[in-house]
Amino acid sequence: MPPTPDHRPHHDSRAALRYLAAMKTILITGASRGIGRATAILCGQKSWRVGINYSTNHEAAEATAAAVREAGGTAILLPGDVSSESDTAAMFDRLGTPDGVVANAGIVGPKSALADMPIARLRLMFDINILGAYLTAREAARRLSTTRGGRGGSIVLVSSVASRLGSPGEYVDYAGSKGAIDTLTIGLAKELAPEGVRVNAVRPGLIETDIHASGGQPDRAARLGATTPMGRAGHPVEVAAAIIWLLDDAAAYTTGALLDVAGGR
Ligand code: NAP
Repeated sequence: MPPTPDHRPHHDSRAALRYLAAMKTILITGASRGIGRATAILCGQKSWRVGINYSTNHEAAEATAAAVREAGGTAILLPGDVSSESDTAAMFDRLGTPDGVVANAGIVGPKSALADMPIARLRLMFDINILGAYLTAREAARRLSTTRGGRGGSIVLVSSVASRLGSPGEYVDYAGSKGAIDTLTIGLAKELAPEGVRVNAVRPGLIETDIHASGGQPDRAARLGATTPMGRAGHPVEVAAAIIWLLDDAAAYTTGALLDVAGGR
């Protein structure tokens, strides 16, 4: 009598199934540099598949992709302007339906009083920081919602403590754009909770990235970081760790949260 084939999954295949169940695909906007890059690398450390969106800095995006692969993940470059409806849809199409989406791309302008801000600056700020985040979140809602055929998932919006500080004399346009992100988080979390989608925001404080130099103040994070309760600026990976927690299943009952990662500021 030949032995009866054993169809029970043995230990190796059970481990493989667990691994596949934990595997995630994450789309991160603005992942070529700063907080987005750090988040992509932490996703790589979990062996996740990462869609790396960026605007123009192809070299930086390639460097992020290399770091994600080095960490053990898979990376796909997704160039596109988040304020463009067609670019945003195209990046989701290329990646396939993700499990998590991080709406992180954002800009600041030079230090200025509102009275001196030209309309072109205000339009660009609101186009990228507000419309960009809304379009990213809308695309995610369309694809993740269970009643639309999705598997559910997690959306993390990157706001700023500027939304509650207001950034007077520096950039009230930026602070207001982040206020919109907080409000989007609160509303969308309620809208998508029955759809299996959690929606949360992180609100970073002063973090050492290129964004300060892009606003004409390269020393801003170090200078103002020293005045905060913790006495220092934060590192991008310290924000990324909070984003990863919100993306992952450990945060299964957390939705509508605005999580400050700001050293007590
Ligand atoms: P960063 O180092 O200046 O990086 C910005 C990223 O956004 C880059 O990957 C850039 O792509 C991308 N980007 C800019 N405009 C875009 C567009 N229209 N479409 C797609 N991608 C675009 O910035 P960061 O400091 O990491 O900031 C990330 C987020 O954290 C922002 O939302 C920011 O407001 C928020 N935040 C930062 C701080 C801080 O102190 N750093 C504090 C609070 C909140 P390219 O490389 O192609 O230009």
